[in-house]
Amino acid sequence: MQQQHTLRDVLEFEGIGLHTGAEARVTVRPQVAGSGLRFRLGAGGPVIPALAENVVETRRSTVIGDGERTVSTVEHLLSALFAMGVDNALIEVDGPEIPAMDGSAAAFAQAIEHAGIAPQATARRRFVVDRPFFYREGNATLVVLPCEEFRIQFSVDFAPPVGAQFLDMSIAPDRFLAEIAPARTFGYLHEVEALLAAGLARGGSLDNALVFAPDGPMTPLRWPNEVVRHKALDLIGDFALLGAWPQCEVISIKSGHRLHAIATNGLREAYAPRRAAVGGR
Ligand SMILES: [Zn+2]
Repeated sequence: MQQQHTLRDVLEFEGIGLHTGAEARVTVRPQVAGSGLRFRLGAGGPVIPALAENVVETRRSTVIGDGERTVSTVEHLLSALFAMGVDNALIEVDGPEIPAMDGSAAAFAQAIEHAGIAPQATARRRFVVDRPFFYREGNATLVVLPCEEFRIQFSVDFAPPVGAQFLDMSIAPDRFLAEIAPARTFGYLHEVEALLAAGLARGGSLDNALVFAPDGPMTPLRWPNEVVRHKALDLIGDFALLGAWPQCEVISIKSGHRLHAIATNGLREAYAPRRAAVGGR
């Protein structure tokens, strides 16, 4: 897509958050060109741009905030808006966490597809990466290479029964809707039990997460490699925080929200002078 786009209609979602278990309502509104993706936290609350420097926490999900108010688990909704081609939208959140829906971005992506997107008379912002970058932490590695499109290669190797999975895909609305959006958040049964005992994952259930018992998934898989598809879904949502369409190839080995935040902050920092020079963000 060469132009910026916004939604043709207002979207509304409600449900419980995976980590807090809290009820939340989200209203996504069309916005003028150049406004980007932004959150409004509570009625009359602060408006916070969906940018890497506004990430305040990455332990179990990506959390955006201003130091006072926060919203958790922004990655699935951002992934859907971004990959479906929505450059400009205001995401009004009434609650502490984006609703988990079925653990995937399917409901968000389908609602965007149903509402449609409207082209705007301004060129789309692109985040052009012109040289290689790499980021490492623990056993996770992220390599970002120049590329004409936004392409992701993702490798994971989780404990049984998940195992090693791989995905290689260039990101576009139709493929995202059909092949990435329905991939669910996942976890292991023993971890879910420990999280619940610790008062975490309070909204988690078999209705909004793919849970693996020692002998296999407790609900049918949507794809044999659903786990790595969900990892790509998360990565797209986290890379939306570049604030422009990534024109790069991202090669991930076992990365998660924390390394994604390190990478997007690092990339925004690396290209800060150029962004200022062209008047973008
Ligand atoms: Zn996720």
